[in-house]
Amino acid sequence: MLFDSHTHFNNEDYTSLERQALFNTVDKAVKQGKMSGAVDIGFDLPSSEMAVEHARQWDWCYAAVGCHPHEAKTMDEDKLDRIRQLAAEEKVVAIGEIGLDFHYDLSDRDTQRYWFRRQIRLANELMMPITIHAREADQEVRDILVEEGAFSEERKEHFGHAGVLLHCFSGSAEFGLEYVKMGAFISVAGPVTYKNNRKTVTMVAAVPMGRLLIETDAPYLTPVPFRGKRNTPLFVEYTANKVAEIKGLLPKEVAALTRDNAKRFYGIPK
Ligand SMILES: [Zn+2]
Repeated sequence: MLFDSHTHFNNEDYTSLERQALFNTVDKAVKQGKMSGAVDIGFDLPSSEMAVEHARQWDWCYAAVGCHPHEAKTMDEDKLDRIRQLAAEEKVVAIGEIGLDFHYDLSDRDTQRYWFRRQIRLANELMMPITIHAREADQEVRDILVEEGAFSEERKEHFGHAGVLLHCFSGSAEFGLEYVKMGAFISVAGPVTYKNNRKTVTMVAAVPMGRLLIETDAPYLTPVPFRGKRNTPLFVEYTANKVAEIKGLLPKEVAALTRDNAKRFYGIPK
């Protein structure tokens, strides 16, 4: 029973027909007992609204609402208020994805920092889990999370962990372990299956199984052997297989453990 902890049914490149077909395939996999669910992750206000809508439509679908650093330049107070309202909806399980991306710099860095901080504060105010996107900004993301109280005792008491997830984590084993020690969860996607990605393989080997999640980030980051094609939540299986190989576990054990971890992180009932 695979659980895709981070996907984008809300991606604007899908036509509504393609999106419907995608939902039908995942729904079929759920009915066959192959998948147990997925979280549709918002990256701006419209995609967050859409994620909430999808979670209403499909019982196995959950939503996260928030603004990605790429779209930070589109944010304002009204939109933050709307994200706060959406976060109160029944199947909204996290604030995200939020963070910093200094690789593409699609929003200027101070704007990214400002809305990252504001959304961590929102997650603290609402006592909700946070899904983090960090690219070429690992140290600063960590520092801001610490400064804004994402690892507070209050959060740890509430969740039984910090309620912080590093999505598609590309940091070192040492950095991953530091996050785990702070109470965070680590998620890996398709890149762990890429040849020569020793860094992520070593990181997965080091991080305890109880803190590891798997995801697709579909339609991006397609795992081997489908690299180059459009990714779908079903391909989370290939990431599970790779994690199984690294951890010396059976694929079905990894599927069950990462599903349980995802549900624990997001606070989804079993
Ligand atoms: Zn994403």
